[in-house]
Amino acid sequence: MQNKRSYAIIGAGVAGLACGLHLAEAGHTVTLFDKGRRPGGRIATRRATGPLGPLVFNHGAQYATSRGANLLPFLKTLHEEGHAGAWPAAQRTEIAWVGMPGMSTLTQALADRATTSGATLLCDRHVSWRDDSGRLRHLPASDARPGQVTETGDITEPFDAVLLALPAPQAAPLFATTGHDFADSMARIVMAPCWATMIAFEHPIPGPDILRPDTGPLAFIARESSRPKSPHGPDRWMLHASAGWSRTHLEEPAEQVQQTLIASFQATMATTAIPNFVASHRWRHAQVEQALGLPCLWDPNARLGYCGDGCMGPRIEAAFDSGAALAQAVLASA
Ligand SMILES: Cc1cc2nc3c(=O)[nH]c(=O)nc-3n(C[C@H](O)[C@H](O)[C@H](O)COP(=O)(O)OP(=O)(O)OC[C@H]3O[C@@H](n4cnc5c(N)ncnc54)[C@H](O)[C@@H]3O)c2cc1C
Repeated sequence: MQNKRSYAIIGAGVAGLACGLHLAEAGHTVTLFDKGRRPGGRIATRRATGPLGPLVFNHGAQYATSRGANLLPFLKTLHEEGHAGAWPAAQRTEIAWVGMPGMSTLTQALADRATTSGATLLCDRHVSWRDDSGRLRHLPASDARPGQVTETGDITEPFDAVLLALPAPQAAPLFATTGHDFADSMARIVMAPCWATMIAFEHPIPGPDILRPDTGPLAFIARESSRPKSPHGPDRWMLHASAGWSRTHLEEPAEQVQQTLIASFQATMATTAIPNFVASHRWRHAQVEQALGLPCLWDPNARLGYCGDGCMGPRIEAAFDSGAALAQAVLASA
């Protein structure tokens, strides 16, 4: 192989994991940092308990589509292993691929492949700073303040290159600490927020499993139990507010937001049923509205790179492809 290099990847969502997997498979030393308790980022499955018992919700990405050549073989392998399948209720023109039993199975499988190939995955580590020699400062996520560059935390040995796989608004402050003009590129990526509300009912609500209203606060309504291999139990629903509505109501308390979203759900489904469980999640940076239009960013002189859905568009597949593209670019100049 080429000279063995050490790469830091900040962000273990699908883009960072795909990038890390390729670099580790090529024999390099890869360390992935993520501030979350587990990898996956916006591909997220939440387990909750309430009066109805244990509940599972997929509150981020709902399904993956596969238009290109890269993601499909991975999905098909997972399908053969029983970890991914089609969600017929969500399908429009293309197959809606989902992780089974939950979406996070997809990213956990990628993370497992990356670590099996030799990558190290450090979760609950918020990276706040990189110096000119490629050292990183990182600290427990609970000690970090979003958007702030902290002067505390552990400092690593220098890495040969530092690769950011974060939503653009989170990558921008890190690029700014380096003085690199990738910070300007981050400013060109526009992202929309999304309020997600999870509800569960003791008795099933009659009606369709998926709705995509084009008016009102809600943009997407899904019955969780219609997913393949979804755990049995109470009737669980995922409500995603539209980008416009989420933007206008971003700073409102969750209780107020969920009241409106539940009322909208009840009106759409023509029901007066009151949910027995309610929880909400605010995605500040949910979906890309304007992407860079480039597969990735890589500066071989500064040894800095960027990948993620901000490069090519608001889809799991675009993030996966971007991570692979960055790995290829890095390997080509290693
Ligand atoms: C509500 C919602 C619905 C969606 N629906 C769909 C859909 O149906 N189909 C589809 O294809 N796509 C959908 N998407 C988009 C899809 O989830 C994303 O395109 C994709 O997951 C982006 O992956 P990523 O790796 O680029 O970024 P992310 O998944 O955001 O990963 C970035 C990672 O970086 C970590 N991180 C951030 N800052 C730091 C730091 N300073 N230090 C360490 N770690 C850090 C985060 O914890 C995160 O794990 C949806 C997204 C949302 C939020």
